[in-house]
Amino acid sequence: MLPQVIIIGRPNVGKSTLFNRLVGKKLALVDDQPGVTRDRRFGDADLLGMKFTIVDTAGWEDLDPETLPGRMRQQTEASLIGADVALFVIDARAGVTPLDEEIARYLRSSRVPIVLLANKAEGRAGDPGLYDAFALGFGEPVAFSAEHGQGLADLFEALRPHIEGDGKDDHDDAAPPAEGEEEEEFDPESVLKLAIVGRPNAGKSTLINKLLGENRLLTGPEAGITRDSIAIDWQWFDAARDGYRPVRLIDTAGMRKKAQITEKLEKMAVADARHAIDFAEVVVLLLDATRGLEHQDLKIASMVLEEGRALMIAVNKWDIAEDPSGLFNGIRAALDDGLAQVRGVPLLAVSARTGKGLDQILTAAFDIRAAWSKRVPTSALNRWFDDALSANPPPAPGGKRIKLRYITQARTRPPSFVMFGTRLDQLPESYRRYLINGIRRELGFDAVPIRLTLRSPT
Ligand code: GDP
Ligand code: GDP
Repeated sequence: MLPQVIIIGRPNVGKSTLFNRLVGKKLALVDDQPGVTRDRRFGDADLLGMKFTIVDTAGWEDLDPETLPGRMRQQTEASLIGADVALFVIDARAGVTPLDEEIARYLRSSRVPIVLLANKAEGRAGDPGLYDAFALGFGEPVAFSAEHGQGLADLFEALRPHIEGDGKDDHDDAAPPAEGEEEEEFDPESVLKLAIVGRPNAGKSTLINKLLGENRLLTGPEAGITRDSIAIDWQWFDAARDGYRPVRLIDTAGMRKKAQITEKLEKMAVADARHAIDFAEVVVLLLDATRGLEHQDLKIASMVLEEGRALMIAVNKWDIAEDPSGLFNGIRAALDDGLAQVRGVPLLAVSARTGKGLDQILTAAFDIRAAWSKRVPTSALNRWFDDALSANPPPAPGGKRIKLRYITQARTRPPSFVMFGTRLDQLPESYRRYLINGIRRELGFDAVPIRLTLRSPT
């Protein structure tokens, strides 16, 4: 007999869609309207080769809080008895609702191990619900999209200990879940989405032409010359690996042709960058060595980091730079001063005209994307966390110590962490920064933007 996984959750969170996804057939009825009644149904699930029986439960349709607890017991107790693990599904977009909390209370008192699944988490719309979900006390939720099939590897890792029999039931104390070794879904050889942004005349077109090795785009001394393409797929030859790697270049200035050239080009550089950020994983901000770092550049750089993208800076026209080392150090200092979010963003000296430094742009871009996409297992994260806390304990405002309990990485791209503890509202910004810098330095996140959310478990 196969292990049994039971799906539990309030109406409309995506239980049927999840069931279909795991069974691989359109068996269950899916409907937009809450409360579509269904029978409990069984299916043979195959999750990345792991086989189990999946059970979709009905029975939560009754939203009346008076009768709810009784109904839960009736409808679900029997099915829970036979289950090896329960998949508690919430809607990450809707966040945690009172009914979810009610179900959570009920599940906590059961003997069955719980895996919390935050569905509809595709894109970024599910982020708030994902963070809220920690407060339910079942550890790290699996961010999932039943509709798009995202999060399968994470679900596999979360279910595996219970299905393969070496799991321990620790859902009562909100402990971090046991994590798999290599759960990475990110493929470092996937197409790198790269945008090159910068003020007019920085040399963006020249750089793109040089990278592509063909005069496909127009360049000229005139600022804001129009180009026709916004996404260019090509292959970069990585000499260090002796092989080609796929790149999609986003050429934002192409969008400019819709506007008049005489219009405020400086402002448009910011608008272009905003478009690029939507597409890109890594954004290269191109500076002009003959002009140095200007206010507008810092504005674009901040925007890229605020949007959570990996940022690199390349100083172009190095072939005609005066006092190169003074210039380089000056820009480094101004960046570290002007960008509060991240110190030490990669800074490269390049020449689109001669080709100097162009391969370094791509090498650094692939590297920084890997850091941006990296996931640190909860155990390693908390080993670092314990050390960081003993090296520099959190302060005790008013004589009462702020308690920091544990930390978990909720998301990648950008790396996003959730830290649990008490009296977190009193944690000074300097301490928060101490932790973020520690994560960056000691866990290999380099100069990518990092998000840290604080949560006090209820
Ligand atoms: P159930 O009542 O919990 O079984 O929910 P259903 O599976 O019937 O799904 C309810 C609604 O949510 C349907 O419109 C689904 O298409 C939608 N849905 C399910 N999974 C996802 C998802 O991963 N993302 C989004 N955006 N919608 C989803
Ligand atoms: P864009 O507005 O950012 O796309 O800038 P362009 O690529 O049109 O370049 C603006 C001007 O700078 C042109 O005259 C280019 O020839 C020149 N330029 C671009 N890159 C370099 C470089 O590396 N060295 C030098 N000396 N000139 C460059």
